[in-house]
Amino acid sequence: MLAFVTGAAGFLGSHLSDRLLRDGWSVVGVDNFATGDPRNLREANESDRFTFVEADVSEPWTGWTTRLDSAQRVPDVVLHLASPASPVHYERLALETLAVNGLGTMHAVTFAHEAGAKLLYASTSESYGDPLEHPQRETYWGNVNPIGIRSCYDESKRFGEAYVTTAVRKLGIDARIVRIFNTYGPRMQAGDGRVIPNFCVSALRGEALTVYGDGSQTRSFCYVDDLIDGIVRLATRPGLGGRVVNVGNPDEYTIRQLAEITARLAGVPLHTEDRPLPPDDPTRRRPDIALARELLDWQPAVPLEIGLARTLDFFRLTR
Ligand code: NAD
Ligand code: UDP
Repeated sequence: MLAFVTGAAGFLGSHLSDRLLRDGWSVVGVDNFATGDPRNLREANESDRFTFVEADVSEPWTGWTTRLDSAQRVPDVVLHLASPASPVHYERLALETLAVNGLGTMHAVTFAHEAGAKLLYASTSESYGDPLEHPQRETYWGNVNPIGIRSCYDESKRFGEAYVTTAVRKLGIDARIVRIFNTYGPRMQAGDGRVIPNFCVSALRGEALTVYGDGSQTRSFCYVDDLIDGIVRLATRPGLGGRVVNVGNPDEYTIRQLAEITARLAGVPLHTEDRPLPPDDPTRRRPDIALARELLDWQPAVPLEIGLARTLDFFRLTR
């Protein structure tokens, strides 16, 4: 079985590639290192079933797929994860983010269609924007500012969802969409700007944890191994073509609670520094995972304190 993973040098793409290789798959990983890191591919590179291609998936895929040998050109599944994911990165790479979720997704659909492969598109809880429904179910249409600072990400992911679901209807491809809620773990970048790496690095350096706004906004954090397990189930189970499924951990925390837990696990006194809340920052977020439970027999297994302790260990070793 052969899988194509776009964004393979990223946080989630590299864990996904490793998991598929452990399960016996062959994997072609593609990345342009826009936000990825070659060190994330160390484990994958040890396998002779892993092939890496450096390419921009917003460009036509014929440019790089012809570099593969014929046995590597017909995957069973294409997993399209390439996209900046942290607000800091997607605001810096705004046009590139629109391109990879727009053009990149269109190329992924064409490629999967021609190969007769399944497609998994990595969407996001940001599709719900600043949600007026809580917790968020897949049926909720969202509350998104189409012209705000986050729209390059939110709206391009929503375009990707529209393109993929339309291709299911018009082309008959077998595509699935995962709406990923905040996920964390080893291999996040220290300078990524997301809250868990920021808090872990600051706590380990004995610096103040930067709390944006009053810290009352909430997020629900999923450990990476749980998320990857949900993605593999959604991508590979038969009979799920056209389905859109939330995958995330429904345990909800305020950002101030997260700061307290991180400081305690790092063994340091809590010092925080107040910073302004970025525009359009969602006030609360928690997935309803009833559909994932029903369709995938999946639910998260790693509590926040366990996952956060592992993540702190990772940042201790890589500092
Ligand atoms: P990441 O930044 O670590 O990984 C993204 C990878 O995509 C990077 O390696 C980057 O270099 C690559 N990439 C970006 N543009 C590319 C292009 N044009 N061509 C080739 N490669 C390109 O981010 P992540 O957290 O691993 O996120 C992976 C996917 O999951 C993204 O699509 C993201 O939107 C989605 N997602 C992640 C989270 C999360 O909490 N981690 C939440 C919601 C959705
Ligand atoms: N946040 C924070 N301090 C930081 C980084 C982020 O208080 O150093 C807040 C941010 O405003 C948001 C939440 O933490 O409310 C999660 O931010 P992140 O960038 O991790 O993810 P997203 O906003 O995409 O859910």
